[in-house]
Amino acid sequence: MAESFPMNGGDGTYSYSKNSHYQVPEELLDKTSPAWNEGKINHTSSSDEVANAYTAQFQKDMKIFLNARAKEIVIGGMMVLLMPGLPDGVHHSELPIGVLFDSLCSSLMDMVNEGLINESQVDSFNLPLYAATPKEITEVIEDIGCFSAERMEIADTRSKFGSLVNVHSLIMTLRAGLEGRGARKAKGKMAESFPMNGGDGTYSYTKNSQYQREATNVAKEMINEVIAEKLDVQSLIASSSNSFCIADLGCSVGPNTFFAMQNILEVVDKKYMTQGATSGSLDFQVFFSDHASNDFNTLFASLPPSRKYFAAGVPGSFYGRLFPRSSLHLVHSSYALQWLSKVPEELLDKASPAWNKGKINYTSSSDEVANAYAAQFQKDMKIFLNARAEEIVVGGMIVLIIPGFPDGVHRSKLPIGVLYDSLCSSLMDMANVGLINESQVDSFNLPVYSATPKEITEVIKDIGCFSIERMEIADPRSKIGSSVNVHSLIMHLRAGMEDIFTKHFGREVIDELFGRTFLKEAEISSALESSYKNGTQLIVALKRE
Ligand code: SAH
Repeated sequence: MAESFPMNGGDGTYSYSKNSHYQVPEELLDKTSPAWNEGKINHTSSSDEVANAYTAQFQKDMKIFLNARAKEIVIGGMMVLLMPGLPDGVHHSELPIGVLFDSLCSSLMDMVNEGLINESQVDSFNLPLYAATPKEITEVIEDIGCFSAERMEIADTRSKFGSLVNVHSLIMTLRAGLEGRGARKAKGKMAESFPMNGGDGTYSYTKNSQYQREATNVAKEMINEVIAEKLDVQSLIASSSNSFCIADLGCSVGPNTFFAMQNILEVVDKKYMTQGATSGSLDFQVFFSDHASNDFNTLFASLPPSRKYFAAGVPGSFYGRLFPRSSLHLVHSSYALQWLSKVPEELLDKASPAWNKGKINYTSSSDEVANAYAAQFQKDMKIFLNARAEEIVVGGMIVLIIPGFPDGVHRSKLPIGVLYDSLCSSLMDMANVGLINESQVDSFNLPVYSATPKEITEVIKDIGCFSIERMEIADPRSKIGSSVNVHSLIMHLRAGMEDIFTKHFGREVIDELFGRTFLKEAEISSALESSYKNGTQLIVALKRE
């Protein structure tokens, strides 16, 4: 991968968002070359050799850039570029930005003199930035030959902010752009999103998503079959220039999403080959989508380098539109739709029969509570399917993997309920010793739901745009072995739910809460023994009609 120097992220004092990072021309790193840029950090006040090396690098990069865009942009489409430049005939040394670079350079030299850094560090350092002339750009464009230059102008940026330049803010701008530390994580600020734990620490989703991964392996076979049998890849892509678009909704931070996408891509490609195409003739676009507060930095930093697809991130809730009309061929979502858009409102009303006192989920609660959850699930699922109906092309498919259980099994038998009850009893213990208030527990409810085939079928029939190609209850344990590791189940729960507990009870009680729950491992194990033992994973394949 080419080196990248992200702008300062976040919205702190030194942040900015913009981008321009080319590679430093190689000659500049060679001490014996005439382009060795001793005591300088850019080409603006350097020798012609240095400036020429910069120009050549710019032209090389610009060619790669334009060639890539030529493949991506439809005929008749346009490109608008705004970049630093200078008029033909003006010498590089007259570039105003050069004054700033020289000044930064002279600060570095002062630091050399004070022994803070080495002079050789300055000699070998060069900013990979270039301001081009119209002539240079025109040459590259003509060389590529796929674009006509419709307009090219040099504008004076100062015309918009008065003639007096604020040098302080210019230096701040430089710092934001060139400091080059990794982008910082954007902190989640949205009300109704509870992202998985980011990063790769002990409690991160990355480190604690094994269960989900193994569970989804069970679904793999069925997904592969249904794509092979039911998806007409050839006719789907006929109107999309041979590109096949897949979205993973609720992708989290990886790695599970990468395995799932890779698998789907291979099956689709194989299917396409059976339809007479040659392998590799499809372009795959994968949209990784999750709440905006999801740790997309971790996701993107860990994208498999050998991937055979173009990756994009799409932020937002899947309970709403995320993509343009008829733009997707296949939608995948695994272990995300159990998250309701919110806790059903009745549960927050003390006067309602659905007030969920001393409980945090519906599995061991009254029918009123369970009905409120069921109604919320159906409402959310309708919104989800209606949005997807607009986004998926006719003939395209949705594959869903969600926690679920067979019709006829009582909710109090759900294994996951055992874990929620155990967390709830830890909370009650903490209320008893005064660490939290009991009323906090009463008003807290997990917005998660396990559906039955009947419930889902009802919603799908109601919407009417999708045919049910497959619906199955699978048993994820068949792949994991029969003895469940309670410890890792709790770790998994923490990775997925820490955020929602933190928002309600405060960060300081989280270790205590999960610590107390770990002490209940034996109890949980035996309660799991008497819970429902078979399939808890619903796999649904739908086709857009
Ligand atoms: N699909 C992955 C991750 C599952 S974790 C896997 O199988 O391992 C569930 C993910 O769903 C989380 O990242 C969470 O942020 C996301 N999610 C929950 N509700 C969502 C919503 N309404 N919109 C988008 N993403 C959502």
